[in-house]
Amino acid sequence: MVEIAETIDCPNCGAPLPLVAGEVIITCEYCGSSHNMAVGKKFFLKHSIIPNKYSNDDIFGIVKQWMKGGFLKPNDLSKKAKIKDVCLTFLPFFIISVQAHSEYEGVFTRTGENLPKKGELKRTYNWKILGRRASQFPTKEYEIPLSGKIDFDISKISKEAKFLNSEMDEEEAKSMLEGEIEEHDKYLLSSEIDVIQSIKTTLDIKNTEFVHAPVWEVKYEYGGSSYELLIDGASGTVIRGDIPQPDTSAKGFLKGLKKGLFG
Ligand SMILES: [Zn+2]
Repeated sequence: MVEIAETIDCPNCGAPLPLVAGEVIITCEYCGSSHNMAVGKKFFLKHSIIPNKYSNDDIFGIVKQWMKGGFLKPNDLSKKAKIKDVCLTFLPFFIISVQAHSEYEGVFTRTGENLPKKGELKRTYNWKILGRRASQFPTKEYEIPLSGKIDFDISKISKEAKFLNSEMDEEEAKSMLEGEIEEHDKYLLSSEIDVIQSIKTTLDIKNTEFVHAPVWEVKYEYGGSSYELLIDGASGTVIRGDIPQPDTSAKGFLKGLKKGLFG
């Protein structure tokens, strides 16, 4: 259950704005304006929405297709799996366009010699930060379909869809950015440096956008276990899908063998 601490009036339209513990950027469900509670009164945030293009039935179809394809999946997955739950959620993201500049020093050791290395890495990123704290969402694997973005329009959110407000504001998202980019640059450098002695990253933030993006969450059951699939509601792409492990029991092996031998 959602815990509502109190309500205030929407600074834009006067409708009650529910304040949920932990949420910082609240979107009014009447007029669709967005407010930063950390900054206080009358701070309007420009935000966009990426409309969802799929119905429940479409999503069932996409899941079935996904289950049939790919050689890593059990052969009978699409036949035996039961789709238990399908739910659309709009997730809040900050998209930060940033020019990152990392200066590094390190040592290349893998040839047996210790070769000092230093240099700089300059990159431009459209970095995504999800505005929810306790989320397992695979942000890195998700290509936000920004081309489908429109000005925020509350009517694009159907009654059945869940809408999540952001638990952090723009400033906090920006402060998370530095650490994440430094980690990412370290990872890029690991192909040419074995020991990174120092890295200094400076960021030049060009633009920050706040976007609500549609993600379908699908739960299915197969062989007595539950699995999950995440689908982009703008493109229909599977963002991530749990695949059941092949049956390695004797019975499963024989079944596979029989199939192999007798078609
Ligand atoms: Zn309002």
